[in-house]
Amino acid sequence: MAYVDEIMESVLKRNPGEPEFHQAVREILDSIAPVIAKHERDYREEKLLERIVEPERSISFRVCWTDDNGKVHVNRGYRTQFNSALGPYKGGIRFHPSVNRSIINFLGFEQIFKNALTGQAIGGGKGGADFNPRGKSDTEVMSFCQAFMSELFNYIGPNEDVPAGDIGVGGREIGYLYGAYKKFTHRWEGVLTGKGVGWGGSLARTEATGYGVVYITEEMLSHKGQSVAGKTAVVSGSGNVALYTIQKLQTLGAKVVTASDSDGFIYDEEGIDFAALREIKEGKRGRVKDYLAYRPHAEYFEDEKPWGVPCDLAFPCATQNELSLEGAQKLVANGCKSVTEGANMPTTREATDYLLGAGLDFLPGKAANAGGVAVSAIEMSQNASRQYRSFESVDNQLHDIMKGIFAQIQSACEDYNTVGNYVSGANIAGFRLVAKAMRAQGYV
Ligand code: GLU
Repeated sequence: MAYVDEIMESVLKRNPGEPEFHQAVREILDSIAPVIAKHERDYREEKLLERIVEPERSISFRVCWTDDNGKVHVNRGYRTQFNSALGPYKGGIRFHPSVNRSIINFLGFEQIFKNALTGQAIGGGKGGADFNPRGKSDTEVMSFCQAFMSELFNYIGPNEDVPAGDIGVGGREIGYLYGAYKKFTHRWEGVLTGKGVGWGGSLARTEATGYGVVYITEEMLSHKGQSVAGKTAVVSGSGNVALYTIQKLQTLGAKVVTASDSDGFIYDEEGIDFAALREIKEGKRGRVKDYLAYRPHAEYFEDEKPWGVPCDLAFPCATQNELSLEGAQKLVANGCKSVTEGANMPTTREATDYLLGAGLDFLPGKAANAGGVAVSAIEMSQNASRQYRSFESVDNQLHDIMKGIFAQIQSACEDYNTVGNYVSGANIAGFRLVAKAMRAQGYV
């Protein structure tokens, strides 16, 4: 049996009931099979793949907190410190009822290769809790964050593990988590990223993931003599990634006609009013349906995803496995030419294979959404030097990083004869960097 197949079999056996983790591992192993085949004897001997699919450390813990009525709640918190070959563990914290070990492991595993592609000194990790911030008051969210950090602070540090936000964890939550960390440790240090500007946060971190998604799409299109300007785009989601993807697309002249949340999507044929959507989401913590009050001509489709809306470019920016085969078929049937993943693994494997087979350009999340974590690393370096940089300088560096990621993917594609398959290219390019560092650091 090929080495990659043996590893897949053992991952399935050793991690039962973790379908998302299996999916993420399978995709990487399929892509890197030709790289492994070239060095199979050495890698087998060194147990390189056995080590890469096993987190260095994985914790789960009880989070006990009290709501505004004095009622006690118990949630489960997680942190998977997956791989530190390239730097301190780095990756977000997700608060969402769907969070479980499988979700955290898949996200942590993806993060290793994504972070490698940024060219910054960051390893891969991920954390979270099955806590639902929706409908909770500020004091309840604070109480939860403090309880969560009362355990997590033992395992993190600016040179050890630096969490950040993800779904359900934005500026408000990072503030409460940071305050709690300081209280428990008596230290003001760069232990979390996505902090507020003025107290350790980096300018452009809020915008970074979405802007990066558009920068890499523009870079890809420019190689074909094209641009996002004048194109119609469908975006899913309405969180941080979706919002700033929409903003940057519009600045560069594209027309974005949709946004969504878990209840449905809005369609605005004149183009989404970014200021209105941002006010609804960031200001009022509302739902996309509220958009109709700002733009009565827009339409709301309850319980539907936006993939049936005709477009040139699609940007799944909501959550894992939101774009299924059926959605992908609709996109292709309606003339979509390119899909860029803003979320982590938003496209199912069947849908990815279908889109690639149909000849679409497909930029995978671990390359396309790496701008967020890249600017997190820039925030870490600002904290370490106790200096702040301007928005323009961070944004310019982000732009260069995204161009650099595309160049690395392309060169990996050329090396392994998979030109045009950016999924393979990203996985191979990320893996090569991590494997090189792991091999140099011995059997740990
Ligand atoms: N949660 C984001 C991601 O998926 C950002 C992580 C970070 O900034 O550390 O990459």
